Amino acid sequence: MTALADMDLGAARVFAVNLDGKAMAALLRAEVKQQIGRLAVGGATPGLAVALVGDDPASQVYVKGKVKACEEVGIASTLRKLPDTTTQDELLGLVDAWNADPAVDGILVQLPLPKGIDQRAVIDRIAPTKDVDGFHPHNLGLLASGRPGLVACTPAGVMRMLSVYGKAYGWTPAGKRAVVIGRSITVGRPMSLLLTNADATVTVCHSRTPDLAGRIGEADLVVAAAGVPQLVKGAWIKVGAVVIDVGIHRMADGGLCGDVEFDAARLRAAAISPVPGGVGPMTIAQLMRNCALAASARRGIAID
Ligand code: NAP
Repeated sequence: MTALADMDLGAARVFAVNLDGKAMAALLRAEVKQQIGRLAVGGATPGLAVALVGDDPASQVYVKGKVKACEEVGIASTLRKLPDTTTQDELLGLVDAWNADPAVDGILVQLPLPKGIDQRAVIDRIAPTKDVDGFHPHNLGLLASGRPGLVACTPAGVMRMLSVYGKAYGWTPAGKRAVVIGRSITVGRPMSLLLTNADATVTVCHSRTPDLAGRIGEADLVVAAAGVPQLVKGAWIKVGAVVIDVGIHRMADGGLCGDVEFDAARLRAAAISPVPGGVGPMTIAQLMRNCALAASARRGIAID
């Protein structure tokens, strides 16, 4: 970690604003609860069907959090736990059954899937109107063409965080130089499209990008989603930048860290999201919002 005395602190910045994802997610869940109340008036209870294949410990924790959030906001969740011997055809059959079930508004197949199951084939089988993860090529295509659709929960949650921060501090992504680290279809790629649609000038970095430090040093906004612990050094951050850390990693001492060197970065950034308690809770709250949106669209009941 860079020693404090070695850092160029620029214009006497103190600590960055803490982008408290836990608090922002609680507000978002409260908003979704109201929307679900409007669906109830229209006679509908939104349903989320979740498939968990195998016994990946991290996936089990994520799914538990999602089911709990459903209970809190009033979404009826169905969890199907399947052994890691499940075949691709069996999983596709389950997706087909949920596609045809009128009580199911959202379908979520928890990733990663065990070896031997083609992840893409499963994602492609989910009806785009029920694709609350926003990974289906139809929904990614809508996002790429700047049209409304279901958007991946993590990047949508990041946009909500930026909007809350922007309203409080008079900040906007429009006209800013943004760097997104990562180009996965689950995080980096939709993130870069959302920021492009919000009028930022976006650079997408990945494992083949030379001079990552140089690219980050130019950025007014950094979204780190590389999946590499503390890849982004605090000293690389431009003074006054907004930093969103999507990464989440278990350290040897049992604690969690992100893709950004948090302690050093917050001395330079204007705002930064912590790990834990940053993007993670926003992702789950956004999933609830996507379920409400999917139910509203499919059942023809306005919620906003
Ligand atoms: P992923 O599919 O592994 O993608 C990682 C991306 O980062 C790839 O595009 C990769 O480049 C790029 N990358 C890897 N090493 C790099 C390096 N040294 N320099 C620059 N780019 C590099 O991961 P993901 O699913 O997008 O997730 C990323 C991180 O976010 C993970 O830590 C994951 O656990 C976390 N995550 C958190 C949440 C949440 O709710 N908080 C949700 C989803 C994911 P290539 O394309 O060239 O391989």
